[in-house]
Amino acid sequence: MRVLKFGGTSLANPERFLQAARLIEKAHLEEQAAGVLSAPAKITNHLVALSEKASLNQPTDCHFDEAVNIFYTIIKGLHAENNNFDLAGTQALIDREFAQIAELLEQIRAAGKVEDAVKATIDCRGEKLSIAMMKAWFEANGYAVTVIDPVEKLLAHGTYLESSVDIAESAKRVDVASIPKRNLVLMAGFTAGNEKGELVLLGRNGSDYSAACLAACLKASACEIWTDVDGVFTCDPRLVPDARLLPHLSYREAMELSYFGAKVIHPRTIGPLVQTNIPCLIKNTGNPDAPGSVIDSDENAAEGLQVKGITNLDNVAMFNVSGPGMQGMVGMAARVFSTMSKAGISVILITQSSSEYSISFCVPAKLADHALSVLNTEFARELQSGALDPVDIIKDLSIVSVVGDGMRTAKGIAARFFSSLAQANISIVAIAQGSSERSISAVVPMNKAIEAVKATHQGLFSNKKSIDVFLVGVGGVGGALIEQIKQQKAFLAKKDIEIRVCALANVNKMLLNENGLDLDDWKNDLQNAIQPSDFDVLLSFIKLHHVVNPVFVDCTSAQSVSNLYVRALREGFHVVTPNKKANTSSYAYYQELREAARQGSHKFLYETNVGAGLPVIENLQNLLAAGDEVEKFEGILSGSLSFIFGKLEEGLTLSQATLLAKEKGFTEPDPRDDLSGADVARKLLILARETGLPLEFEDIEVEGVLPRGFSDGMSRDEFLAVLPDLDAEFDQRVQAAKKEGKVLRYVGSINGSKCRVAIEAVDENHPLYKVKDGENALAFLTRYYSPIPLLLRGYGAGTDVTAAGVFADILRTLHGGI
Ligand code: ADP
Ligand code: ASP
Ligand code: MG
Repeated sequence: MRVLKFGGTSLANPERFLQAARLIEKAHLEEQAAGVLSAPAKITNHLVALSEKASLNQPTDCHFDEAVNIFYTIIKGLHAENNNFDLAGTQALIDREFAQIAELLEQIRAAGKVEDAVKATIDCRGEKLSIAMMKAWFEANGYAVTVIDPVEKLLAHGTYLESSVDIAESAKRVDVASIPKRNLVLMAGFTAGNEKGELVLLGRNGSDYSAACLAACLKASACEIWTDVDGVFTCDPRLVPDARLLPHLSYREAMELSYFGAKVIHPRTIGPLVQTNIPCLIKNTGNPDAPGSVIDSDENAAEGLQVKGITNLDNVAMFNVSGPGMQGMVGMAARVFSTMSKAGISVILITQSSSEYSISFCVPAKLADHALSVLNTEFARELQSGALDPVDIIKDLSIVSVVGDGMRTAKGIAARFFSSLAQANISIVAIAQGSSERSISAVVPMNKAIEAVKATHQGLFSNKKSIDVFLVGVGGVGGALIEQIKQQKAFLAKKDIEIRVCALANVNKMLLNENGLDLDDWKNDLQNAIQPSDFDVLLSFIKLHHVVNPVFVDCTSAQSVSNLYVRALREGFHVVTPNKKANTSSYAYYQELREAARQGSHKFLYETNVGAGLPVIENLQNLLAAGDEVEKFEGILSGSLSFIFGKLEEGLTLSQATLLAKEKGFTEPDPRDDLSGADVARKLLILARETGLPLEFEDIEVEGVLPRGFSDGMSRDEFLAVLPDLDAEFDQRVQAAKKEGKVLRYVGSINGSKCRVAIEAVDENHPLYKVKDGENALAFLTRYYSPIPLLLRGYGAGTDVTAAGVFADILRTLHGGI
């Protein structure tokens, strides 16, 4: 005999129901078959809602009608397939069941509450009707059917809603010999009977367990769980698309995986099969030829995988019992856990602590209040005397577990598990290792559980690191960045780095895709996008899609976008930007940003704010971190002014040099934006703040290249027309400097706490003497770099170098770098 169990999705509509029937029939023709059926998909949820809502006197009609409709659709489909199918008889049966349910609902409504015994009889009607429909189907096809009544045959102990089957006693009741060999056997899942013969349930998702119990009672050759996936995967394939199918698992592994949340089989399924050594197969109803997964007693199958899977068990609460008197109290742990067990509360996980000062453990969240009250009663005396502190509960947690037989011998898995969580910035509330060493669990906030599973899967099953870029601003630098990302994708893939651009946004529109956008024709795609730019949508996108390593990249120069960084960091993004606005607005915002980054362990990177691609900020931060101190700074921080002053030295007039710089595209469209010195002042402010000076923009003394008020009110062209008026004066200054062997440079300097941006004459010994032609140079005179300053020098402008600097920052968000 073979037992085949079909889950809800395998019975959801006539087509699937027929497919399940065909599979039972095929098995029956090979070897006698017993079909265990669940309720068609959604039915149990509707039934659960019916009694709950009735007890609250809420409307129930929609659940009622939808449930009836699902059954009607199935029987109509079965009748259409074979006219012998007893449509009228099964419809009458469905109507009768639902009439009974309606009656019970009226009673519940009147009482204002629902007893568990009554709830149990309602919740399992779906299974009962599945069997009635399947029986009618096989009879219509000429098969003799034996229906096993689980209430009568499966003896279970526990509560009305969650009981466990007594296999030995049930096996005696299921008299295999009395079942004719040619009969096809059917039994409703999810249901059993208690000592009094009352109907009880085996817990949600319990039909798998029913099948295993029946298989054990019948001493079946196999227990096949037919579902909607190809077998057991390394983690839920719906969460992680590159989850791997496991051809084989040991009983222990399957137990541990399901215990810790792998929904593909009910946690108690394996128990009855171990005792009788019956193999369990997980198969896909929609893809019956796929080999599926085999679960049996072989713990050494040559699979090569030390870790078999990663699971998440949600809706967990963690208790912490502690207090100054704990150390001396004998038998504390025993008292805590026997209190739980007496109250019928299963403790999912206990975290070990080598000190005896506290005990932490997890229970299902729905039992947390009950658990607290029994603990408070048990320890009333100790709590009152202060020997115990008030019991601490943390709610909304999940347990993420890594499971595998091979972990007993493998080293370093725990380290990889925890570093994967760290990389995804997930804080770990507690850690536990199963005593069998087959599992390691981390308790994490529930809203991070899916990220945790994804990140751990990536960390353990592939060396791949991923970055998800959310790019705002696709002009010069942003556009160049996209091209660089496209170009480097293959190179980075070789280093196991996957870089996806999940969002592109300009002022008007945005494109979003959690799996990464196709960048081949991004300009057109963005132009034709229909979604308007909406930062609320963009910033909340990562929570919705559980993105593991999102980076918000701002390539605009907008103040409004820079104002979003604190929020982005709090939402879980790293922030990377060449935009100087955030770092140069108020010092309060500057600090708030850093605090937000620190709190969430996210990175805020802005290397390109000063000197474009030159590694200024990182070097400076490294020096300061190593204990160095900046005594004096001098730098040429503007590419356009570096060019213009170089040309003055070569003999061009100020107006000629400016025009040339403009023609070459070195200046802003209006060269006054460069000549005003404001941009250099911003960069200087960023450097000054980096060295620890709490300055505001107004604290920077700025001497523009142009005399104050020189072209006020003029258009750009008018300004360019009058610029030659300054040529003579500048020429004089250049000549005067030259006489002293000096050249003019536009220099930003920090001296103590004094920051100044001005034209300075420097001699040939000065580090900035030779810096021209658009180059930037930064001279840091520090405690370590003295008397010769540390000099950083190179092109400090241009879209490509800036984009490359932004790209490097994006890669720096990866834990451990590249
Ligand atoms: P059924 O209705 O057939 O009982 P379930 O929905 O209870 O089906 O269980 C199957 C589902 O279990 C799959 O669709 C999948 O999303 C989920 N699942 C969770 N973890 C795993 C895993 N490790 N391997 C396979 N499926 C898993
Ligand atoms: N139908 C029940 C449920 O949805 C039992 C099962 O599907 O296994 O929980
Ligand atoms: Mg199931």
